[in-house]
Amino acid sequence: MSTYDLIVIGAGPGGYVCAIRAAQLGLKVACVEGRETLGGTCLNVGCIPSKALLHASHMLHETHENFAKMGLITPEVKVDWAKMLGYKAETVTGNTKGIEFLFKKNKIDWLKGWATIEAPGKVKVGDTTYDTKNIVIATGSVPSALKGVTVDNDAGVVVDSTGALALKKVPGSMVVIGAGVIGLELGSVYARLGAEVTVVEYLDAITPGMDGEVQKQFQKILAKQGLKFVLGAAVSEVEVKGGKAEVEYKLRKDDSEHEIKADVVLVATGRRPYVDGLGLDKLGVQMTDRGFVQVDKHWQSNVPGVYAIGDAVPGPMLAHKAEDEGMAAAEVIAGKHGHVNYDVIPGVIYTTPEVASVGLTEEAAKATGRKIKVGKFPFMGNARAKALFQADGFVKMIADAETDRVLGCHIIGPNAGEMIHEVCVAMEFGASAQDIALTCHAHPTCSEAVREAALALGDGAIHA
Ligand code: FAD
Repeated sequence: MSTYDLIVIGAGPGGYVCAIRAAQLGLKVACVEGRETLGGTCLNVGCIPSKALLHASHMLHETHENFAKMGLITPEVKVDWAKMLGYKAETVTGNTKGIEFLFKKNKIDWLKGWATIEAPGKVKVGDTTYDTKNIVIATGSVPSALKGVTVDNDAGVVVDSTGALALKKVPGSMVVIGAGVIGLELGSVYARLGAEVTVVEYLDAITPGMDGEVQKQFQKILAKQGLKFVLGAAVSEVEVKGGKAEVEYKLRKDDSEHEIKADVVLVATGRRPYVDGLGLDKLGVQMTDRGFVQVDKHWQSNVPGVYAIGDAVPGPMLAHKAEDEGMAAAEVIAGKHGHVNYDVIPGVIYTTPEVASVGLTEEAAKATGRKIKVGKFPFMGNARAKALFQADGFVKMIADAETDRVLGCHIIGPNAGEMIHEVCVAMEFGASAQDIALTCHAHPTCSEAVREAALALGDGAIHA
C-alpha cells in the first residue's frame, strides 16, 4: 500500500478543509471519517441544521409579527413539522454531498470508519493500517454531560443539541439549561414555533464572555420575544416522569430550591473535545487539563508528525476557527507558513436580531490597562433597520484612545453576522476607527451603523 503524505482524522470543517488545502498544495491525502456522511458536527448536527431551523422559524415569526404591519394579509400560516425537518435534512445533505464532490475533485481518499493511531505514521481504520508521513487529529467535540442529568435523544424528553434538532414534535414547553449560543439559538427556534421556553443559566448573565452591554440588551430583546430567563441557578437534577421532565434547581443567591416541568429539556451546557478511541494515551500525546490536545504554534503535538486542530484543541469552538487552523496546518505540513490571527475571530449568534462580535469586549479592553474609547450607534438611527422592524440593537466599537486603532466591535442588529466582517478586515489591516469612518458606505444599509459607530469615536455620529 502506498504511503500518504497526510492522513486527516475527522471530516468536520477543520478536517475537510485541511485535507483540501493539503491536496491543493500537492500532497497525497486521505481523510478518515466514522460518520456516514462528511462535514462533521457542523454540517450534520450543528451550524447548518440549526441555521435551517432558525431560518424557517424566523419566516414564521415574520408572518405573525410583521406581515400585517406591512399590509401583507395572509391566511394563518401553519407549521408542518415533518416538512420543516425535511427541509433541514435536504439542506444538510446538499452540503455533505458537496464535500464528497470536493474530495473527489481534489483526489482525497475518504477512508470510511473510526481511526486509531497505532504509532507515529500509522493509522488503523477497520482491519487496515495505513502509512503516512503526517497525521492531523480533527476529531472535534461532543456535548458535555451535566451531573444529575441523563440525556436520551431517542426518547426525546431530555436531549442535547443533536436531539433538539430532530424532536418528534414541537413541544408545548421547553427548558433550556445553559444560556450560551447553542441554547439560545435552539431556544429561539422553539419559542418562535410556539413553545413556552425557559432558559436556566448558572451565571448571572446570558452569553458568557460577551460584552456586558450586549448581554443586557440581548436578554431584553429575547424576553420581549417570549423567552423566560432564570439566571444564577444551578440545576441539580432532571427527572422524567410520565413522559415529562422535572428540572430541579437551586438559586445561587439564597440557596432556595425550585422546580420547573417541561415537555422537553435541552441540555446546552457546553461541549468537550472528543479524542476517544484514538489511542493518544498509548502514543504519549500531551493533553491539557481540560482534555484538549496540547499543540505548539504550528498545531503540532509533542509527538513529531502528529498535529491537531479545531474543537480538539484549545480556543473558541467555532467552525471557522477550525477551518482556519485546518488551512494553516496543511500549509505548515506542506513546508509553507500557516498562520491564524486569534485576535480576529468573529463570533455570531444567529437569532433575530443577530449578535456578532470580534476582538476585545469593553471589559476585556479595560482590563488590558490601556486607555480606550467607545463609540456606540443605535439602530434606531438607521433607516434600513427601522424598515426591517429590527431597530432595538446597536453597534459598539472599541478603539485605543491614543492610536485610534480598532480593538473590537460588538453588534446586535439585523444581519450583524454579515456586517461584522468589515470590522474583521479593518482589524486585520490594523485600521483606525477613522479609516472606517472615512469609508463611504452605501445608503440605505445596516452597515451604515458600523460607520456611524466609528464616527462616534471621532467628531460624532451624524444620525444619533
Ligand atoms: P467536528 O465538526 O466535530 O468534526 C469532527 C469529525 O471527526 C466528526 O464528524 C466525527 O465523526 C469524526 N471523528 C471523531 N473521531 C474519529 C475517529 N476516531 N475516526 C474517524 N472519525 C472521527 N460553529 C460556528 O462557527 N457557527 C455556528 O453557527 C455553529 N453552530 C453550531 C450549532 C450546534 C447545534 C453545534 C452543536 C455546534 C455549532 N457550532 C457552530 C460549532 C461547530 O459545529 C464546531 O466548532 C465545528 O464543527 C468544529 O469542527 P471540527 O472540524 O473541529 O470538528
